[in-house]
Amino acid sequence: MTGTPHPHDERCLEFFKKLSEYIDEELDEESCRKIEKHVEDCAPCQACLETLKATTGLCRRLKEKPVPAELSDRLKKMARELAI
Ligand SMILES: [Zn+2]
Repeated sequence: MTGTPHPHDERCLEFFKKLSEYIDEELDEESCRKIEKHVEDCAPCQACLETLKATTGLCRRLKEKPVPAELSDRLKKMARELAI
């Protein structure tokens, strides 16, 4: 997942900022939907989210199984790096 070319427009930056909260389960349903809407027409972010989802099961599975702190930290770091 490194070195992926990504057009860092403002919506993407916002997406990645929110992603940290998303990982931490701090987003309400509406924000969650905004993220999913963004990735619908943003392939790089979609690829990223798919990776995160594959790893954590975000959103849907979060309620059943909390993300381990260590994994959460790693994902947040990843999201931050991608947002640079
Ligand atoms: Zn994007």
